[in-house]
Amino acid sequence: MKNRQADVLDEVFQRFLQGSHIFQNRSLLRHDYVPDKLPHRESEIRSLGEIVAPSLEGAPFSSLLIYGKTGTGKTAVMRYVLSVLSRKGEVLGSPMKACFVNCRLTGTEYRILASLCSTIGVKVPFTGLALGEVFDRFKGSLDSHKLLLIVVLDEIDEFVRKRGDFLLYELTRINEALSDSKVSIIGISNDLRFKEMLDPRVLSTLSEEEVVFKPYNADELRDILVDRAELAFYDGVLSDGAVRLCAALAAAEHGDARRALDLLRVAAELAEREGADSVSDEHVRNAERRIEHDRIAEAVTNLPAHSKIVVLSVYMLSRLNSGHSVTGHIYNVYSELCEELGMVPLTQRRVSGLINELDVIGLLNTQVVSLGRYGRTKKIHLAIPRALIGNVLCEDDRFGSVLKDAPRFLPGLIEGKA
Ligand code: ADP
Ligand code: MG
Repeated sequence: MKNRQADVLDEVFQRFLQGSHIFQNRSLLRHDYVPDKLPHRESEIRSLGEIVAPSLEGAPFSSLLIYGKTGTGKTAVMRYVLSVLSRKGEVLGSPMKACFVNCRLTGTEYRILASLCSTIGVKVPFTGLALGEVFDRFKGSLDSHKLLLIVVLDEIDEFVRKRGDFLLYELTRINEALSDSKVSIIGISNDLRFKEMLDPRVLSTLSEEEVVFKPYNADELRDILVDRAELAFYDGVLSDGAVRLCAALAAAEHGDARRALDLLRVAAELAEREGADSVSDEHVRNAERRIEHDRIAEAVTNLPAHSKIVVLSVYMLSRLNSGHSVTGHIYNVYSELCEELGMVPLTQRRVSGLINELDVIGLLNTQVVSLGRYGRTKKIHLAIPRALIGNVLCEDDRFGSVLKDAPRFLPGLIEGKA
């Protein structure tokens, strides 16, 4: 037994040491890689270039909001424009600096300000100062540097949703307090309705210019993939069909280049693990299932316990009555499951609320239907493939055994008390 295990590892390591037949440069498929060439974004690059150009002379430019769904190239394009701009600025000796902050990852006002401070060489302790104090240090030092600071706030929508627009309010007014330096702000949002979240005063100073990034279509995604694949893979590893399929699947989603690149990377990893010489359509299909499975597993794993049990109830019912269930049935099964799991069930009203939340995050679909003179009810069904959610739920130790036991008590519940 021991030897067999050693053999397996030996083979795995040997294959690893031989190097990949598939990947020439794996890191080019990372999410944060910024390519030198960004096909189908020429006009956006030009618009952004025109907007930021005054900074080369140290002059502030109009504030700018960039919008578009995820994977439409906003971050990559903005980083690209900034890098070319900064190089040009250095050659010209322009009094300008740029700071790019991902607000979702950075997380707090304090840490965002600390990162702006570090761009202009001001040290701020990791915690401990009052926010106002950090702001004052930032303003004071910035003014003594006599420069134009470009502040790019990426994924600002996520940040404002969680923490409000206080930071934006302060930043958009900062020029009033500066005499020898200026700040120009660029906000990037994945949410097209971001403006609705802002105080009108913040909005009007933040969005003097707007640039919208449209989703890519399948042909455009294909061009993006082909360019990237040329550098990331060895020649002949990738069939034209596999690339086309990645592009088509991602275009059907919402024209998301990140999804297209993820499909390509995961498909190639599957091919590599199999020891295959090339990436096939089949690998892409399997990659799609893998990615979807991981996405759903993550969503379900992060649910609170009672929401998980609601999903489990809908799943079980869908095995019986191939399709939708009504709230009453779901509640009966939910209560029974709570008992099996040794938990106290919530009220039907609360469970209704949980069902609505699960609809919002896309795990369930609900539809209100009229029952004529018996009033109204909700029809509920899974918004994701049954098999996928089944696999994910079975991976949960507690649910796995309940799932096996279910046929014993389910039918009675449904016939009994609707
Ligand atoms: P967003 O910020 O809009 O969510 P990103 O800029 O992060 O999108 O793009 C997602 C991924 O797709 C990144 O890996 C990026 O390099 C790539 N990408 C997006 N648009 C292009 C393009 N036009 N050409 C090449 N790669 C692109
Ligand atoms: Mg982005």
